[in-house]
Amino acid sequence: MTKVAVLGDGITAQAVRSFLAHANDYQDSPIQTADWIVTSPGIPPAQWPATSVEIISDIEFAIRVLHSRGVFPTIVGITGTNGKTTVTAGLAHALNQTAYGNIGRPLILDIDHCQASDPLIIELSSYQLVSSPSLHCDVAVILNIEPDHLAWHGTFEAYQAAKFSIIKGDQRVYMPKKLHESHQWPHPIDFCAIDDLNCAELDQFSGAHNQQNAAIIIDIATYLGLDHSVMMQRLKTFNLPPFRCQKLTSRNGRIIVNDSKATNMSATIAAVQSFPGRKLLILAGQAKAPFSDAFMRLVFRECEVIYAAGDLAKNKAVFPKEWQSKLHFFDSVASATQSALNEYPTGTILFSPAAASFDEFENYVARGEAFSHYVKQHQ
Ligand code: ADP
Repeated sequence: MTKVAVLGDGITAQAVRSFLAHANDYQDSPIQTADWIVTSPGIPPAQWPATSVEIISDIEFAIRVLHSRGVFPTIVGITGTNGKTTVTAGLAHALNQTAYGNIGRPLILDIDHCQASDPLIIELSSYQLVSSPSLHCDVAVILNIEPDHLAWHGTFEAYQAAKFSIIKGDQRVYMPKKLHESHQWPHPIDFCAIDDLNCAELDQFSGAHNQQNAAIIIDIATYLGLDHSVMMQRLKTFNLPPFRCQKLTSRNGRIIVNDSKATNMSATIAAVQSFPGRKLLILAGQAKAPFSDAFMRLVFRECEVIYAAGDLAKNKAVFPKEWQSKLHFFDSVASATQSALNEYPTGTILFSPAAASFDEFENYVARGEAFSHYVKQHQ
């Protein structure tokens, strides 16, 4: 009997506890007597209890359970700063499997039904990777690494190291060439350069970044042996998850895009590049880092009008001087959106905040729902 303590009380911790409540070979236990501690992804290492007991992620735990039962499925792990959910959801859809992990469904919930013949498609956050020391993914994907979640990790180097820890050797690895070149790999890997994949022509994957996401999905599914025509047939019915460059309307020369999930600058850069032509960009929320040069230059070049809302609008000194002629400040996402809808009748209104939502909303979903609601009301 393995004794397991659980940290946290979100959906992941609850799923682990409900597994422990009915498992024959594992038992819920206090930290003092535990063999393993399973931590929720939201709890940073600084808040972990001081103990010599091993602290592991829910994913590491679920895979240990599976292996102890003699079940060894192919594991596909997907990480990166941006695009994880899109690639995980798309790949699971193509393979007709459930997607697990950071995407929202804890793997432990379905562990009793996992079969060796079904590949496991798992979205892995950097938080989960930090505490997944023996998780070996047969296919590992690092989509990109940009500064993010620095408060949790402490430094960019620590964040990067967490992402790279998905690479353990003897596996197929997808990542951009520049990441591959930036590192000495201690173990042999079967490297596939994301940049070299042929872009798939699938309409619902809007923008160059999503075309690349589609190309990765197709390459992995092919690698896993899925028939090409079956895959293309399935992908036709795949919709991008909401609030990721989601086109709300395209009418009378005006396109309105809800990209509330863009909580960092690199996601907004991808969105700005995806919609050519005249644009009004709405930035909003709590900045995670100072604006990068690349971000400031691209936004200035590509956007005709720039709105800043919420917390971002409070600190006017962070905005570059060149932006002044294009820049307008608003108290809230609501007032910025109202103004955009009234003042910008043609071109693209792009809501791609480049910052966290917590100043005004519970999370990016609530922010995305609010934006869609204002747009709907206006029409
Ligand atoms: P994650 O799960 O990593 O947060 P999502 O698929 O939810 O990724 O997308 C988050 C944001 O990043 C969205 O704004 C989306 O448009 C953008 N995005 C998606 N794929 C990429 C990519 N490959 N490169 C850059 N940005 C991307």
